[in-house]
Amino acid sequence: MRHHRYKLAVIGDPIGHSLSPQIHSAALQAAGLRGSYEAIRVESAALPEGVSSMRSSSYDGFNVTIPHKEAMIGLVDRLDSLAAETGAVNTVKRVGRSLVGYNTDVTGFGRLFDRLVLIAERRVRDVALVLGAGGAARAAVASLRSRGWTVVIANRTPERAVRAFGQDARVIALDASQVQAALDVAGVLVNTTSVGMDEPADSPLPRGVHIDSQVTVCDLVYSPLDTALLRHARRARCPTVDGLEFLIAQAADSFNLWTGVLADEGAMRRAAALKNTMTSAAAS
Ligand code: NAP
Repeated sequence: MRHHRYKLAVIGDPIGHSLSPQIHSAALQAAGLRGSYEAIRVESAALPEGVSSMRSSSYDGFNVTIPHKEAMIGLVDRLDSLAAETGAVNTVKRVGRSLVGYNTDVTGFGRLFDRLVLIAERRVRDVALVLGAGGAARAAVASLRSRGWTVVIANRTPERAVRAFGQDARVIALDASQVQAALDVAGVLVNTTSVGMDEPADSPLPRGVHIDSQVTVCDLVYSPLDTALLRHARRARCPTVDGLEFLIAQAADSFNLWTGVLADEGAMRRAAALKNTMTSAAAS
């Protein structure tokens, strides 16, 4: 496929903040492949027409982001088993005339969670505390559970968490005493809420909660990259994993699905960091 020109994209709304065009263009270049990767804004009401247009424009594949991951389930011709189990599609690949839906959030996050076990050398505490119960939580919970972690979920709206995960996880309220009790026996804390995006000084942890240094703290928020939660964790001497690592992990798995080539994650990371720096400079 060296001479093929890949036609790739991401669809979502909003889409202007997406780092995916930079990340995937860098991966194509590093692999010596020709092609393009566009960011296309598709509003929810126009999603079916948007997908038809992707079909007729002969894209090799595309990513799907907020708010379309769940709706995409009903718009592809076939679903990979992980996408079906998770109820969300973040990657679509054209296979012949069909569009096949995958979920590389689950596989990508899973590879990172495997590395967390290595950080800890051995898993002393096998409880993972997940903050949030939205689309990102679905992927995080599926990959943690498949790796044997016992998952506890704290969400602002506990009923939403019970509906989404009641079979698979213990649900608690996002209040200081319940979160502290869960954190005291947890080996990993994963923030999947969007807290910290609009107000960078905000932390998703209730005020007064203490994190001990045995907890590896992951934040899926990647804009900004250095969140209040990660700063709190570093002060507590916890190992940390930022949102860009999660973004790169899922992007690498999508790239591999489309091209059959292992992505150069270093090139992806450098391209994302450059776009982040330019965006911050433009905003200041
Ligand atoms: P979503 O489906 O809209 O879910 C948002 C979650 O955040 C819900 O659990 C919601 O709680 C909670 N939340 C929102 N505002 C809150 C507040 N003020 N206080 C407490 N909880 C609050 O969004 P999503 O798709 O899961 O995405 C969540 C975040 O993950 C976003 O920042 C997104 O950019 C990031 N993300 C990163 C990656 C990556 O690769 N790094 C991948 C996917 C997503 P309620 O249920 O109570 O509303």
